[in-house]
Amino acid sequence: MYEEILHETALQEATLYETLDKEAVRCTACKLRCVIKNGQAGVCGVRENKEGKLYLLVYGRASAVNIDPIEKKPLFHFLPGTEVFSVGTVGCNFGCTFCQNWDLSQVARTIRERLMKEKRSAFIEFEVGRYGYKLSPEEIVKICVGKQIPSIAYTYNEPVIFFEYLHDTALLAAQYNIRNVFVSNGYESEEALDAMGLHLHAMNIDLKAFRDEFYTKQCKARLQPVLDTILDVHRRGIWLEVTTLVIPGLNDSDEELKDIAAFLASIDEDIPWHISAFHPAYKMTDTPPTSRATLERAYDIGRSAGLHYVYVGNIRDWRRSATYCPKCQKPLILREAYQTSIEPAFQDGCCTNCKTKIPGIWE
Ligand code: SF4
Repeated sequence: MYEEILHETALQEATLYETLDKEAVRCTACKLRCVIKNGQAGVCGVRENKEGKLYLLVYGRASAVNIDPIEKKPLFHFLPGTEVFSVGTVGCNFGCTFCQNWDLSQVARTIRERLMKEKRSAFIEFEVGRYGYKLSPEEIVKICVGKQIPSIAYTYNEPVIFFEYLHDTALLAAQYNIRNVFVSNGYESEEALDAMGLHLHAMNIDLKAFRDEFYTKQCKARLQPVLDTILDVHRRGIWLEVTTLVIPGLNDSDEELKDIAAFLASIDEDIPWHISAFHPAYKMTDTPPTSRATLERAYDIGRSAGLHYVYVGNIRDWRRSATYCPKCQKPLILREAYQTSIEPAFQDGCCTNCKTKIPGIWE
C-alpha cells in the first residue's frame, strides 16, 4: 500500500543542496539556507531530507494554474499586451500575515504539523505532493506552444522553493523561445540565480516594506536579504520590476515610502515601481483596504524620488498605470483593467516624439 502511495508522489531529488554529514543537508535554493535533518523538511515545507538526500515533494504538481495578462504579474515593461502561463505549487519560505494566496502558500506547513501531531509523518510527502495536480514541464511547454503563449511565470507562491520543477520547465521552454519570469519575494540564493543563468528573463520582486521589523513580524523574514537580491538581480541584467503592497498603518508612512523609492532610484531610476492596493486577507482581515489617496501620495513620492516609471495597481487609475516618456512626457502605453493599448508614439522600444529609448523587453 505504502509503495503504491509513494509511486503516486511527486518526489524528485533536489539539485540545490549540500551534504553536511550522514544525517543533515543544507538546502541552497533560498537565502534561508535551511539545515535539514533526516525526515525533516525546510521552512517552506516542500523540500525534505530522506536519508541524507534532499527531495522536492512537489515536482510536477501544480496547485494553481492560469493564463493571465502579463500585466497581472505585474510586469509592465515586458512583452506588453501578451499572455503569460502562470504556475505555482504549495508551500512558501515566508509566512506573511497578509498573504493573498495563503491557502496555497501555507498549506504544506499545516499538513506537516497535522500529520506530525497524528504521528502519521510517513504520509507527509504523499499529502503534500497530491495537493496539486500532475502537470509536467513537457505539458506546460506544450500548452504554451499550442496557444502561442510567449512566457511562463512561476508565481502564486515563492518560485525558488520548487526550483527543480521550474528549472526543468524553463530549460525546455527556452528551446521554443518561450521566456521565463519569477514573481518573487526576493529570497533567491545566488546558487539559484546562477543555475537559472540566461533562462531567467524577468523578475518582479516584492519589496514589502523598508523596515526590518515589518519583515520579522509580518513575514517571518528579514529585509536585508531582499535588498541584496534586488541589487544582485539588477547587476545580473535580468529585467527587474519591484512591487510594494501598501498596507494602511504598517508601511504607508511618507518616510518609509520615501526610503523605498530612494533605494530603488539609487540603483537605477529606470526600475519600474508598482504600488499596489492592499485588500484584507488571511490574518489581516481587520485592516482596511488602501485608500486611493494613499496610493496617489505614494505615486508622487516615487516620482519625486526620480523614478521614471511608477504605477499604481489593484485599483483602477489609468493615469497612474500608464507609461510616459520620461523626457517629453508623451503617453506611450495605456492600461486599464488589464487592457493594454500601445500608442502610436511607442515604436521599437522608443518614444517616436523625442527618440528616447524606454527600458524593457518589448519583443
Ligand atoms: S527553499 Fe525551503 S528548504 Fe530551501 S532554504 Fe528555502 S525555505 Fe529552506
